[in-house]
Parts: sequence; structure tokens; C-alpha cells
Amino acid sequence: MLTVQKYGGTSVADAEKIRKVAAGLVRAAQNGDQVVAVVSAQGDLTDRLLEKIRSVTDAPSPRESDACISAGEQISAALVAMAIEELGYPAVSLTGWQIGLMTDGTYGKARIRALQNWRIQQELNKGKIVVVAGFQGIDLSGNITTLGRGGSDSTAVALAAMLKADRCVICTDVAGVYDRDPRKFPDAVKYERIGYEDMLKLCREGAQVLHDRCVELAQEYQIAVEVRSAFSDEAGTMVGNLE
Ligand code: ADP
Ligand code: ASP
Ligand code: MG
Repeated sequence: MLTVQKYGGTSVADAEKIRKVAAGLVRAAQNGDQVVAVVSAQGDLTDRLLEKIRSVTDAPSPRESDACISAGEQISAALVAMAIEELGYPAVSLTGWQIGLMTDGTYGKARIRALQNWRIQQELNKGKIVVVAGFQGIDLSGNITTLGRGGSDSTAVALAAMLKADRCVICTDVAGVYDRDPRKFPDAVKYERIGYEDMLKLCREGAQVLHDRCVELAQEYQIAVEVRSAFSDEAGTMVGNLE
């Protein structure tokens, strides 16, 4: 079974969490799964990189801004790969450009156009856990682009589609998709299942639990997306076609 598992910023925010993520990935691999992880920048690192940009200029070049903010995901991917190796399991981190994640040239909100799978497949065939830096790609001229805030979710779904993964799991800091933001509304109700259209509606109303583009991609490629807590076994939410 091939699984793509995405871990957001809070889930890789510090060394302890990275070790937990690594342990979970190793467990899945030891159960016989081929595992591709997608990771976001640690905690609020992307915001801090944006602050650094603003400390240098009020009118940042969109190209250089993307070159700067894409760095957070590259750091996470390497740290998670090292934490996996620390547990004695082989791993490799790959950037968006190393997996040929091609986008259009819209800096700051680029759309995925193509993706190569030979490098990931090659590493999986060597028995490695592959850790991909989310959120980033490269345009046709070779410039680094980013997919928009929350865009690592879209990296994960695009990879699941391209690799024909058996499972695509978005691991986050809440236990699934709720009817309202569960952090603001403690009485929010969790969906067991939700259709693509209803999920898109929630995204457009501002629920950042999934990147809107990731839901569009999932619907286009008919990928069922599981949203669940990064660190608990509680059943999550399945986003897909509702019968
Ligand atoms: P990650 O860093 O894992 O990508 P995000 O911060 O992007 O996580 O998304 C998870 C957050 O989305 C939750 O912490 C929650 O506050 C917020 N959220 C907003 N609306 C919803 C909703 N309807 N269901 C679940 N989470 C929601
Ligand atoms: N790190 C990026 C952001 O903060 C992408 C992501 O988290 O998915 O928006
Ligand atoms: Mg997110």
C-alpha cells in the first residue's frame, strides 16, 4: 500500500513533534507501506520569513519573496528525514524542484501544472521513506514558486494523484473537518464524511483546515482525502464523493 501523509506546521513545530512524526512514518513503513510524507514549515516560520522580507523592503520582488518563504518547507523535510534516519530507517528529503513539481509563474499563488514521479519511485524502490517539502514548485523558466498559504495540502493531493496512492492523509492539529472552527467553537461538530462540494464551500467561507485548491484537485482526480489529528488515533473525516 502506498500512502501519502501530510503534516502541517504545528505538527512539526519542534524536535519532539518531529520525532513523533518520524516514529509514525517508520511504523507505517514497518507495517509494509510505501510512505511519502509531505511537510510544511515549522510552526509560524513562514510568517517569520515574511516579516524578514518586510524588514528589508516594503516592495518585495515576488520572485525573491517565493525564494525566501519556500525555504521553511525545505528545512522541515530535511529535519524529518534526519529524525527518521535517527530511528534507523532509511529516508530521503526532496524539494519541489527535485520532484519536478512544475507550476505556472504566478508567484505567491502558483498552480500545479505537472509532476514527475521517477525520482520518488526510485527512492521508494530503494526502501526509503520519502519526505517532500510542501508548498513549493518551479515554473517553466526554473524560478521557485509557492502555491499560496496552506498550499502543502495541494502538494500532498497532487502527489497522491500522480503516484496513484492508496491513501492520502492530511494530518493536522485538529481531529478532522468540523461544521465550524473547533478552536473557536468548542461545540463544533465533526463530520465523519463530507463531499467535495460542501468541503469547498467550507474552504471558501474561510476554514483553512484544507487548502481550497487541494479540494479542487482531489475532486478532479477523485482522491479521497482523510483529515485527522497528527498525534491521536481518533477517527478523522473522509473528504470524497458522497453516495
Ligand atoms: P496545518 O498547519 O496542519 O496545515 P492549519 O492551521 O492550516 O493546519 O489548519 C488547521 C486549523 O484549521 C485548525 O487548527 C482549526 O483552527 C482551523 N479550522 C478552521 N475551520 C475549521 C473547520 N471547519 N474544521 C476544522 N478545522 C478548522
Ligand atoms: N508554510 C506554508 C504556510 O504557512 C504552507 C503550508 O503550511 O501549507 O502557508
Ligand atoms: Mg494548512
